[in-house]
Amino acid sequence: MTYDLVITNGTIVTAANTFRADIGIRGERIAAIGENLNGQRVLDATDRLVIPGGVDIHVHMQMPLAPDVISADTFSTGTRAAALGGTTTIVDFVEAKGEESLLAALAARRAEADPQVVIDYALHMTIGPRDIAKLDEVPAVAAAGCTSFKLYMAYGLRLDDGQLLQALEAVRDVGGRPVIHCENWDIICTLIRRHLAAGRTEPRWHPRSRPELLEGEAAGRAIAIAEFVGVPLHIFHVSCGAVVERIRAARARGLPITGETCPQYLFLSDAAYEAPGVEGLLPICAPPLRPVAEQQALWQALAAGDLQLVTTDHCPFDRATKSRGLGDFSKTPGGVPSIEMRLAAVYQGVVRGLFSANRWVELCCTAPARLMGLEGKGDIAIGMDADLVIFDPHRHVTLSTAFLHENVDWTPYEGLELVGWPETVLSRGEVIVADGMCTGKAGRGRFVHRRSLG
Ligand SMILES: [Zn+2]
Repeated sequence: MTYDLVITNGTIVTAANTFRADIGIRGERIAAIGENLNGQRVLDATDRLVIPGGVDIHVHMQMPLAPDVISADTFSTGTRAAALGGTTTIVDFVEAKGEESLLAALAARRAEADPQVVIDYALHMTIGPRDIAKLDEVPAVAAAGCTSFKLYMAYGLRLDDGQLLQALEAVRDVGGRPVIHCENWDIICTLIRRHLAAGRTEPRWHPRSRPELLEGEAAGRAIAIAEFVGVPLHIFHVSCGAVVERIRAARARGLPITGETCPQYLFLSDAAYEAPGVEGLLPICAPPLRPVAEQQALWQALAAGDLQLVTTDHCPFDRATKSRGLGDFSKTPGGVPSIEMRLAAVYQGVVRGLFSANRWVELCCTAPARLMGLEGKGDIAIGMDADLVIFDPHRHVTLSTAFLHENVDWTPYEGLELVGWPETVLSRGEVIVADGMCTGKAGRGRFVHRRSLG
């Protein structure tokens, strides 16, 4: 029995196990896991970890924030950077414009992504206030393979609590999965107005307009509404212990509540907003970066199981676009790039002895795939898609704009030293990254059609 490709001599790490074995790949799938497998092509993984491809369920490629403001990574450049960082599946977003139907918006977003993606992808359907009138479309959206729904408690897409109730009921009724941005928008708007009126226009007033306590309050309110409706809820980009506490308490009561954090909240702090000029605007994102003490709370939460996964909320804007916030921090397009460094970034938890390599794989690959119903993704087993990363746990890298491949002229991680980096990346059996180069063709990635979860 000869396989198309065999990965040999590696240490396989899954969420559940660590063991030495060869992996045999036939076509796009894992066909065998065992000893002494023969392949037409062999990849030697001596001294390397072999893990499932990373799954990043929170990214924003070419996201239109305003008519003339769009996030800097296209589906092409962004999925290439993702692949180079060991991520083989992403979940991005659909937003309907005005009266546009949800199904038409889904088709339009797929038409943007399909010709460009280098790796596989799925989409969350956003339900904004204007989409409440379209909730009868939710079953058709789920049937079209889009079974998770994004709800906002902030920005123009913010739902009030009554709208949140209606949206959660609609998602519940199709066995879908709601994901939510939790902040208290009324208080944020009041604080921003107050700061600007007093001439406090610098980026240091950004975190002071979006307090931890009220991110916690918003998360608690969302959890309570989800409990009342009887639907699971996934809380996006947890930045602080105040939200962790709400998730921990809900889970302790047996509620199906999950939460994620992102590298920016694990590695950066609000001190970044003190930098002068545009430098202080660059790391503006929401929720904002927090005091350094919160980083420890988040790492602990990942280790203890109080947070279930790590995503990026990758949403870069270049320096020129970010500089719109000079003189008024609230005009800065929010978002930072993290898509390429996520897998290696979370591996630092293993390097620091905070959690096992299995937990790392669970946080970055297995848990996100399962939560989002991405069949065939996030694990190493016979029949799964051959989405695999050969990871060098010993390589030292220093992050910089020059080292990374994201389509943006800065990184918040300039100079950050990491131990461990992906060496070879396979997507459905095809080697798409080797020797630091991504050779996957634009458009080879596929839309992952998901089934309803319940
Ligand atoms: Zn986001």
